[in-house]
Amino acid sequence: MTSLSDTTKLSASARDFIDEGFFHGLIAQPFDRGAFREALAKSMAKEALSVEETAALLAAEGADEVETLFDSARRLKRDVYGNRIVLFAPLYLGNECVNDCAYCAFRRSNREVVRRTLAPEDIRAQVEVLVDKGHKRLILVFGEHPRYDAEFIGRCVRQVYAIRSGHGEIRRVNINAAPLDHEGFATVKEAGIGTYQVFQETYHHGTYRAVHGQNTRKGDYSWRLDALARAMEAGCDDVGIGALFGLYDWRFETLGLVAHALHLQKHYGVGPHTISFPRLRPAQGVSLDDTYKVGDPEFKRLVAILRLAVPYTGMILTAREPPALRREVMAFGVSQIDAGTRIELGGYTEGGPEQAVDREQFHIGDVRPLDDVMRDLLTDGYIPSFCTACYRLGRTGEHFMEFAIPGFIQNLCTPNALTTLHEYLVDYASPETREAGRRLIRDELAKLPEGPRKTELIDRLRRIEETEERDLYL
Ligand code: SF4
Ligand code: SF4
Repeated sequence: MTSLSDTTKLSASARDFIDEGFFHGLIAQPFDRGAFREALAKSMAKEALSVEETAALLAAEGADEVETLFDSARRLKRDVYGNRIVLFAPLYLGNECVNDCAYCAFRRSNREVVRRTLAPEDIRAQVEVLVDKGHKRLILVFGEHPRYDAEFIGRCVRQVYAIRSGHGEIRRVNINAAPLDHEGFATVKEAGIGTYQVFQETYHHGTYRAVHGQNTRKGDYSWRLDALARAMEAGCDDVGIGALFGLYDWRFETLGLVAHALHLQKHYGVGPHTISFPRLRPAQGVSLDDTYKVGDPEFKRLVAILRLAVPYTGMILTAREPPALRREVMAFGVSQIDAGTRIELGGYTEGGPEQAVDREQFHIGDVRPLDDVMRDLLTDGYIPSFCTACYRLGRTGEHFMEFAIPGFIQNLCTPNALTTLHEYLVDYASPETREAGRRLIRDELAKLPEGPRKTELIDRLRRIEETEERDLYL
């Protein structure tokens, strides 16, 4: 694995595991009904798929087979995750950037964008507004710039955790920032981060070079591909991978994501916590080449296939997508969404009804406030959850335990989802959302078996309703 960087700083597992000839050969193979059925059976047994098995699902194009994929993904999602959906909000902290990514409004050659890094008092103002809306989980987003080093990121994380407003506070801070070295990852881990996300954007080498250039930090494909392995070696075992769909063939990118997940699983015994699959969006000063544009039908297929390929990896669907499509693909296996999202620097306090195009990275498709998203989820029968219990109790490997320990979801995740939902209803919800939420909690309680666990949960819900007590996690 060659790298512009000092190779001694790469991980012990550093290797270019993206075999383009192999991937293209798999993509060119005709549909094989036997291989399709075998791959589906393995998914439904909740086993992760190999790259070859994922390709067998990608080859399915007939209407019946595609419907089978959707049905299987819906069933797997229900079996593995139940009806919980975790909510978060992104907070852009700085858009200075030394890179020149062709698809991004923050690229260094874009002179029209307003450059800004939030000062501590700006961060406080943004976080207080988010807390006052009911958020408990944030992802902090940074451009790639020497001033956004690990110490800076760590300081921001600590500041966010320290902010209190009313009954609320942010309980989990995730990061989306440039790849760090081992020491950098150890520093941000020390600050208490949740997930560290680094998206490869495209796994195709030629496209990667074309959109990132070679004389930029981001132009170093290998340094980026190896980033999350370094993170794991430095103690950040909670990492998120992603690809920006629309830069290259969506089938290739899907295989790349699966190969990346398998690589981490093989070398570190744990796969990525989350997979993200944003599609290219229009952005200020960006002219998009639509050769590889991913239409809605293909997007739905790729979401369903990812669900089936990595049954135990959380999947994040962002507000880039419009509400109707979000609603549809959520059922295929999405476990986390953002809501009430503003992606302009300072947008949570300074934004008007229109997005400030000179301060945002791209245009978003879902601009509904958190309360509207909550109400729609509740009406559709989902339990919106702000749970952060495992992370806060030091139950490391949370993602593993959730699925590996019998009854974990029923005994811990569902009660924690319901208490965090109840906090939202009592402290932040509109009357209509409160009513929809109370109905859902009643229905969910009726489904739980009688016993001390249920009695304890009912008591916690009462304490949230009648007292100032909050954050009553199990
Ligand atoms: Fe910078 Fe990230 Fe935008 Fe690239 S995608 S120009 S690294 S902010
Ligand atoms: Fe996640 Fe743990 Fe909460 Fe379950 S109890 S939703 S695994 S944090």
